[in-house]
Amino acid sequence: MISVAIDGPAGAGKSTLSRKLASHFGFIYVDTGAMYRAVGLKFSRLGIDAELNCDIEKILADTSVDIRFVGNEQRVFLDGEDVSDEIRTPEISMMASAVSAKPPVRAFLLNTQRNLAKNSDCLMDGRDIGTVVLPNATVKIYLTASAEDRAMRRYKELCEKGQTVEYKDVFDDMVKRDYNDMHRDIAPLKQADDAIVADTTGLEFEQSFALLIELIEKGIKANENN
Ligand code: C5P
Repeated sequence: MISVAIDGPAGAGKSTLSRKLASHFGFIYVDTGAMYRAVGLKFSRLGIDAELNCDIEKILADTSVDIRFVGNEQRVFLDGEDVSDEIRTPEISMMASAVSAKPPVRAFLLNTQRNLAKNSDCLMDGRDIGTVVLPNATVKIYLTASAEDRAMRRYKELCEKGQTVEYKDVFDDMVKRDYNDMHRDIAPLKQADDAIVADTTGLEFEQSFALLIELIEKGIKANENN
């Protein structure tokens, strides 16, 4: 099976690019961030805040998170309910970051993620795909861009969805979330030693897309020749 791992900080365009890349190559797309967001939503619905003063394992024992494909599109289900749209808010971004630092939460999602890559050619994005989830991935890419570019993209995305947000809040939240993701003890966000860095600062979407197609094609070819 071919697997492409794309990791990087928030707002680097991972989800939008990955979805389109997966469809270009005919692979399934697995957005692992959506799974952490679904867990974050569960805790938030229970009235728990980002301090997570609760019995995490007990809550997880009564939680299910599945990825299902409706046509080509990935939807994420929390306890059987499609929550794909509800998880895309700044509050749930912060809750996802908080729960993702907890070892039981990471263990809870790891097998589901690995199993998805076992059965189909796949493109998976997240923070620890190349380092932890799929250490033997065919191609590993670390996708990044300047913090300003990333915050502006995220800001525009939220505005397009009709959410009322300030650019400064989006920027501050993003920097905080990246810091948390890079400094947690378990599976921190970092570039895998064998990952190729793709910096999309100043690039339009189509330029980033073309760059990644080239990197992935090269990586797959290099792997075939080995
Ligand atoms: O990618 P996205 O912004 O949707 O991810 C939400 C949060 O989930 C991240 O900030 C990170 O804390 C967490 N996450 C993670 N490991 C992954 C994917 C996401 O810790 N593989």
